[in-house]
Amino acid sequence: MSGCNFRKTEKKLANVERKLSRKKKGSHNRGKAKAKVAKVHAKIANQRRDFLHKASAQIVKNHDVIIMENLTIKNMIRNHKLAKSIQDAGWGKFGDYIEYKSLRQGKRHVLVDPKGTSQTCLCGAHVPKDLSVRLHECPVCGLEMDRDLVSAKLILERGLSAMA
Ligand SMILES: [Zn+2]
Repeated sequence: MSGCNFRKTEKKLANVERKLSRKKKGSHNRGKAKAKVAKVHAKIANQRRDFLHKASAQIVKNHDVIIMENLTIKNMIRNHKLAKSIQDAGWGKFGDYIEYKSLRQGKRHVLVDPKGTSQTCLCGAHVPKDLSVRLHECPVCGLEMDRDLVSAKLILERGLSAMA
């Protein structure tokens, strides 16, 4: 499933929603237009689920150990800026899919404490940065690295020490 298919369906959604907005309230045509909108919403949900299943299957197939942050989606949803992108990406589901596929295939699945993984340097220094800052720059050890890569390395470290 490519992003292209998502975009195509999203375009279609905008199209049927626009048509719905032009129908008179209570009319038979409005009912039909509503049903079309619901159908496209269902298609988007299917495409998203399909994508998450394929992507998670690929990850589990190619790795024997999978270490993930134990993110409580509920806590993250409280942050409204993050909420939409989390729901769009289906992160909660993605994590669930990876977990059950790992267990089913006998792979190691490790959840680690996510506390501070975005604000800590590999040297251990506290390096606060808000979400708009993509580059991690440590004033202590001088490390410059993509912030997501630094977080991934910290999560890996935590997972490996949890397994040891
Ligand atoms: Zn550092």
